[in-house]
Amino acid sequence: MKFDYDLFVIGGGSGGVRAARIAAGEHGAKVAVAEEYRMGGTCVIRGCVPKKIMVFASTYAPAMEDARAYGWNVMAEGFDWGRFRKRLDAEIDRLEGVYRAGLAGAKVDVYDCRATLKDAHTVRLANGDTVSAKHILIATGGRPYLPPKAEAAGVMTSNDIFKLETLPKSVLIVGGGFISCEFACILNGLGVNVTQYYRGEQILRGFDGEARGHIAELMRESGVNLHVGTDVMEMEKVEGGTRVSSTDGREGIFEAVVYATGRLPNSDGLGLEELGVKLGRRGEIMVDEWSQTAVPSIFAVGDVTDRINLTPIAIREGHAFADTVFGGKSVKADHALVPSAVFTQPEFGTVGLTEEEARDKGPIEIYATAFRPMQSAFAGRADRVLMKLIVCADTRKVLGCHIVAPGAGEMIQLAAIAIKMGATKEDFDRTVAVHPVMAEELVTLRKPVRTA
Ligand code: NDP
Repeated sequence: MKFDYDLFVIGGGSGGVRAARIAAGEHGAKVAVAEEYRMGGTCVIRGCVPKKIMVFASTYAPAMEDARAYGWNVMAEGFDWGRFRKRLDAEIDRLEGVYRAGLAGAKVDVYDCRATLKDAHTVRLANGDTVSAKHILIATGGRPYLPPKAEAAGVMTSNDIFKLETLPKSVLIVGGGFISCEFACILNGLGVNVTQYYRGEQILRGFDGEARGHIAELMRESGVNLHVGTDVMEMEKVEGGTRVSSTDGREGIFEAVVYATGRLPNSDGLGLEELGVKLGRRGEIMVDEWSQTAVPSIFAVGDVTDRINLTPIAIREGHAFADTVFGGKSVKADHALVPSAVFTQPEFGTVGLTEEEARDKGPIEIYATAFRPMQSAFAGRADRVLMKLIVCADTRKVLGCHIVAPGAGEMIQLAAIAIKMGATKEDFDRTVAVHPVMAEELVTLRKPVRTA
């Protein structure tokens, strides 16, 4: 049978674009991508990239404070959100252009519209046209999830923060995951009065317990009004914002309310289940280790499969799919020992097992140190850095590394290489320290602080 394309990709985010470029550019396949919003997906348009630029913007207030301690005569005259947003928008436009140029360079056809499935080899475009393809890749990502009462109250999500015309004076952020903690720190740094409610015992559930406590403490010290064990009970629009009453009896009026209560896979209305593609409880597309669905011609990568929802994972999955299906190589995306960073202030970099997970797996040694880093200690700030290694007492392998420090994201990338290679504690120890830097502590941790 003759198809219009070898591959039709639905979704122009990190995973879809990588798959399209590799399939077309490296393996010579005839490829098309459909994207209903903007090319680049969550990461480029309303996620990692604009978020990280906002992180940079938010760090200048403490940096200017520090500068004074270092002898500089500096006068901060406030933050101009309008000026910043104009530059941010221009940068996102530029990056979207880079994505489009990459696809054009690989001779990928782009359809700027929504596409849904008609059958196992046919895609229906929003204008009613149909296009056939030997393989179809679903890479439609995810979207913020709002509990019903938050939806009814018309609260904001992280998507809306990037589009604010003005910065609110006060904000309530609900949630204790990556997005809520990152935006709490960002907005606090930009001068917004930030309150954060998290329903559980401690923020960043699933990460290393000691690191979570350390981050929560530093967030509070830097000015975030963080309340754990607290959830929203009622919300009511009033003059100047939203009146919120909480489960612990607290009440307040906030100019803005942002919910960051998780994300859901974008699988609705694509016609997947009608064709026999299996969806999980949250709407995630069920795939095997080759990213193949229950319908052999249909594959899915990235957040829509709800495996590990991180940009580099979507990219790896898209690349592995293209190499396997079009490049004649059998490549599986590796989901083991994935490092990641949470861009709180200070940052959190992490790879491998948490202390809690490792405890259940066998005898372990915990090496950890918390200290005041030289740069901020000199400036008189009370920040503390945490460096922690989880070591298997039998094999001596480093099972996990958790760093809370300025630049922890950069540090963990390198530590992750050693850990992925199977480095032992003794390998870390025989590596000479770089002095004076914070990360030297990783190779000078002499005695375990505890064993389990
Ligand atoms: P997370 O799943 O990380 O966190 C959701 C938070 O919302 C949790 O604290 C959860 O509480 C809480 N929550 C869920 N439902 C409710 C509810 N009904 N009422 C009150 N609270 C609720 O989701 P995020 O939205 O923060 O992030 C989504 C994903 O995006 C992340 O998992 C991550 O994979 C990715 N991401 C990665 C980043 C990075 O790498 N730096 C940055 C941003 C996002 P509980 O813990 O009790 O369930």
